[in-house]
Amino acid sequence: MSFGVVEGGPGEEFVSTISGHPFGDVQFTGERFPLTQVKLLAPMLPSKVVAIGRNYAEHARELGNEVPDEPLIFMKPSTTVIGQHEPIVYPTSLSHRVDHEGELAVVIGRLCREVPVERVKDVIFGYTCANDVTARDLQKKDVQFTRAKSFDTFCPLGPWIQTDLDASDLALTTTVNGDVRQSGRTSQLIHDIPTLVAYVTAVMTLIPGDVILTGTPAGVGPLEVGDEVSVGIEGIGTLTNKVVSRD
Ligand code: MG
Repeated sequence: MSFGVVEGGPGEEFVSTISGHPFGDVQFTGERFPLTQVKLLAPMLPSKVVAIGRNYAEHARELGNEVPDEPLIFMKPSTTVIGQHEPIVYPTSLSHRVDHEGELAVVIGRLCREVPVERVKDVIFGYTCANDVTARDLQKKDVQFTRAKSFDTFCPLGPWIQTDLDASDLALTTTVNGDVRQSGRTSQLIHDIPTLVAYVTAVMTLIPGDVILTGTPAGVGPLEVGDEVSVGIEGIGTLTNKVVSRD
């Protein structure tokens, strides 16, 4: 098990492994493997996942919420994180409404706090696809978000981190069994990425590998056991996970 860099053109990608972690000077080991022969894990194990609620106007409206003046932040524990093709486990005895939320995830690359908006680009390592899986019935019942957002496997991340990307206007599409459920662009974010990183780091220190989920566009909807859900983001790739029953 190690970190690696995905290189090569479509259909011919390979992974060059590196020693240690990818934050800082990367040392290649000289080993290379075809991507098709590699099992991808979640691209990082964050100390924390900070998520933003209601950051696309249409999505706020579809759930009957006002658009907030300031970013609305909540957290998902690190134990929610899974990677490409790992199963989302539906907690069937506790929830009867589990929704997908396709989102752009910002991956932090440096220890940072109180980052001014104009220096945010210096602390971003890259971007990946995320699914902020949510037990919607528990979210409504509990008033606050913790239980609904925190089940193990409720934060698929991947398939990898794209480090060289302008994330200000990317198409984001969520499909379930191939049917398009969510289609948006990151240019529709109410609070943009620099604003979010500055806002979050005014509250808490972020460390390399920490993740900020930037919010989901309209079209959230239920997942069922057996479904295959994919979150695709232009310039990054597609994160795909199946839904299985806990019981
Ligand atoms: Mg969300």
